[in-house]
Amino acid sequence: MLTYNELIELREKLINNEISIEQAKELYGNDLKEGKRSWHTKDWKNRKAEIIKDKCEICSSTEVLTLQHLSHPKKFADYLLEVKRTYAKNQINSNPEIEISVFRKYALEKYDYLPIPLCPNCRNKNPSERVRKMPKYRCTDCKCEFDEPVYIEVNELISLFYKNVDAIEVQDKCFVSKKWRNQHNLSSVKYWFLRENATEINAEKIEKEAFLLYLNDNIKYLSFEDTITTCKKCASSYDLFNMELCPKCKTNYKSIEFKTCFDCLPEEQQKFVLASREFAKQMRDINKRLDID
Ligand SMILES: [Zn+2]
Ligand SMILES: [Zn+2]
Ligand SMILES: [Zn+2]
Repeated sequence: MLTYNELIELREKLINNEISIEQAKELYGNDLKEGKRSWHTKDWKNRKAEIIKDKCEICSSTEVLTLQHLSHPKKFADYLLEVKRTYAKNQINSNPEIEISVFRKYALEKYDYLPIPLCPNCRNKNPSERVRKMPKYRCTDCKCEFDEPVYIEVNELISLFYKNVDAIEVQDKCFVSKKWRNQHNLSSVKYWFLRENATEINAEKIEKEAFLLYLNDNIKYLSFEDTITTCKKCASSYDLFNMELCPKCKTNYKSIEFKTCFDCLPEEQQKFVLASREFAKQMRDINKRLDID
């Protein structure tokens, strides 16, 4: 595990192209693998000791203080996905022309075409299939009866899509992904074509951008920027993600339920809070003694 300063150095080198993304990831080590986070290094402990305040930022108590993070770094894989989506979006917005033969090849390589049955007379979709009666099919629209429905040939469908992406015939999800077994229409086949293209062409850039975001996040985490010193009691009795800086003193934290921190409350209200806390404690003690806790 790299120290805080080593991480900042690594980020600088990567930004200035002094090292490649591959080298950066290697230097970073195994921690990229999900779930493996060994923050508790000596460097971390030393820096934490400097940052932790001498009283709870919620109730001002000085008993058993801990440092709590108010935000946590995301996984590298999450950043990767985010950046890939951005690149795909830009590619799609640029509306590039795809040669029809290239698109057809892609669609047939990655998907199975499951054509929609049509009435041979009026080309209405999905004629009703009959179990006993012959002929087997009956069109719900023109009432025509027949043995075999007709299908749009895949090349014809793709040609239709190229003429008009909004045509009714091309809206059906009749392409089944060979890899994921889910169904797509031609618009979403095109989306994935462009997305795969964009991520292939920009693979290195995407990797680097995602890794830099990930590094930023981890550096911020290790900087203890988004942390709060609390006593053990406050750490367990408040949802720490609902804490914010007190608007009055701008030093202590407070729960979003309250207007200010404890220190900034008028004396009367402080007394009230203390009294109700004491009352709650007494009740707990009584319940414990009576064993109805
Ligand atoms: Zn406290
Ligand atoms: Zn019909
Ligand atoms: Zn305050």
